[in-house]
Amino acid sequence: MTDVTVIGCGVSGLSSAIRLQEAGFSVRIVSRELPPHTTSDVAGAIWHPISAENLPNGLRWASECREELLRLVDDPTTGVQVIELLEPVEEGKEGMAWQAMLDDLRPAQEDELPLGYTGGFRYSVPLIETPIYMAYLVRRFQANGGEIQQALVDDLDSFAGAERLVVNCTGAWAGKLTGDNRVFPIRGQILRLPPQPHITHAFMSHGGPLGFTYIFPRSQDCLLGGTSEAGNWSVRPDDATSAAIRGRCTSVDPSLANAEVIDVRVGLRPGRDEVRLELEETANGPVIHNYGHSGIGHTLAWGCANDVTRLAQKRFG
Ligand SMILES: Cc1cc2nc3c(=O)[nH]c(=O)nc-3n(C[C@H](O)[C@H](O)[C@H](O)COP(=O)(O)OP(=O)(O)OC[C@H]3O[C@@H](n4cnc5c(N)ncnc54)[C@H](O)[C@@H]3O)c2cc1C
Repeated sequence: MTDVTVIGCGVSGLSSAIRLQEAGFSVRIVSRELPPHTTSDVAGAIWHPISAENLPNGLRWASECREELLRLVDDPTTGVQVIELLEPVEEGKEGMAWQAMLDDLRPAQEDELPLGYTGGFRYSVPLIETPIYMAYLVRRFQANGGEIQQALVDDLDSFAGAERLVVNCTGAWAGKLTGDNRVFPIRGQILRLPPQPHITHAFMSHGGPLGFTYIFPRSQDCLLGGTSEAGNWSVRPDDATSAAIRGRCTSVDPSLANAEVIDVRVGLRPGRDEVRLELEETANGPVIHNYGHSGIGHTLAWGCANDVTRLAQKRFG
């Protein structure tokens, strides 16, 4: 049985590790941060492949990931639910290719749209409640016999070998390990409110008067976002940003004006012009890279994990 070391314990590392186990590989994870302290834990995280259309395999990855997430909905311990999303869109941005995957897409009524929008959609999508989901992924990996070691890796070669495989899932920090200067952080800040049971659907805009704004009601909290600050490495919450997020969300739902904030969190999305998912034959042994998922890592994770496993099987088959 080939030994695999996955570096990184976010959604990319855990999904890849689980798929590799299911294909018969013996897998361990080595990671600096573990759930609940990764970027993947901070995320919204809604299945929404908006930028997947620009990636060569993006829509296939998103579709394979959606299939797995829909399978997990039946098990409440996974933290995956299907929720109705209201998405106002800027004029001229209607009708994207990925929407063909949806079962119940319908135009939003005029009276459902926030001020300043003339069009939009309602449809159902998987919403991942990350505090529950990331813990579930860890349990699923460990139940398959996987071990997790907390350590900073400063050289991928130290885990490589001719008959061993390294899988690099280090997110925004991948550039530091590989020298890949196309990787950059995209800072995201969110507010966590207590559960808001009166909010029964999710809301998200990517442009127009509200810019990038979302409201995701979950069982244990309600998330308000968002920000998307390319190149910013700061993980410190910023008060002015929190006030701006609250203001935009309140204009969508006035009941949020005075709601208590229980936490403010920041995550660094792994920005890159495209996902790097490929096998590299280094002088010390094979390395599969799986990083650079930008703002859609939860949307692509299982599709990318499937491809990591296909590459590993081809290399060692
Ligand atoms: C606020 C916010 C909202 C988001 N909303 C969504 C959404 O709605 N839908 C969606 O699909 N995506 C969303 N995303 C994006 C998504 O969270 C990311 O694309 C995804 O989490 C990336 O996962 P990853 O496993 O590649 O990286 P990470 O989760 O960052 O994991 C990287 C791992 O590598 C480890 N690591 C790094 N360097 C080293 C090293 N040298 N040695 C050892 N370990 C190392 C880290 O400690 C960590 O464990 C959002 C992100 C943010 C911040």
